[in-house]
Amino acid sequence: MTEPWQWSEQTWRDHVGRVRAGRPLRPESWPGGAKVAVALSFDSDHETLALRDGHVLPGKLSQGEYGSRVGVPRVLKLLERFGAPSTFFVPAVSALLHDGEAQSYVDAGHEVALHGWIHEINAQLPPSAERELTFRAADTLERLTGTRPVGIRTPSWDFSETTLPIIRELGLAYDSSLMADDDCYELLADGEPTGVVELPVEWIRDDAPYFTMNRFGSQRPYTPPRGVLSIWRDEFDLALAEGGLFQLTMHPHVIGHRSRIALLTELLEHIASHDGIWFATHAQVADYVSEPAASG
Ligand SMILES: [Zn+2]
Repeated sequence: MTEPWQWSEQTWRDHVGRVRAGRPLRPESWPGGAKVAVALSFDSDHETLALRDGHVLPGKLSQGEYGSRVGVPRVLKLLERFGAPSTFFVPAVSALLHDGEAQSYVDAGHEVALHGWIHEINAQLPPSAERELTFRAADTLERLTGTRPVGIRTPSWDFSETTLPIIRELGLAYDSSLMADDDCYELLADGEPTGVVELPVEWIRDDAPYFTMNRFGSQRPYTPPRGVLSIWRDEFDLALAEGGLFQLTMHPHVIGHRSRIALLTELLEHIASHDGIWFATHAQVADYVSEPAASG
């Protein structure tokens, strides 16, 4: 095994080129002449974050249970108020634990998309296990909601060397786990276009790093909710000015608390105070930007 400083040029070029950003997919305008696409997403991880790490005691599991009992109803109510179709990325085990929850998303006009089986870490799995779990998750969500998922967010945004081949084998329209842009782009595999749309994410547009803490860790990252509001408002304002995509990643068990749903409410009020807002699911955005006629 050679060290990175010993790698040949071909080796580091191959690593970088395996999954790469291809052509940018920011359209000239959004549907109906909208100036910005607002794609909100909620990763309904619930208990799977604890289960994935083998934590089976009631305390940590109850924190996930809160997401389903309290967070989800608050989030759904807020989305209904703003008429904002959104995407829920749901680990299959989470969907199975909470009977009817995935269906309730679809019934309210939202999208349900893939987020692993039990929030597994793909890079730690044998490729055959990652493939089997992803396919099983797709079958499970389809059985529970009557609709086959067309998109994926890898659990913890952890993307292995076999993730993209699995996405292509499943025939998915989009991924939302990578970070090479603010706006959509096409994924390249070893330099070749794949037709798969990336809706990029970023930790700064994710609620978890600002609000979650580890009881037994020394670090207590904590940003006041209105501090997060100011970051996300700035992200939105420039997305609007650029005519691009404003994408957010949240978790019902994180954002669903009283003091935090307040920030999301204020953010949505700020967004809705502008003309030309297109609230859309990730699938709708992927479909629109990959349509050649749309970008004319
Ligand atoms: Zn997750």
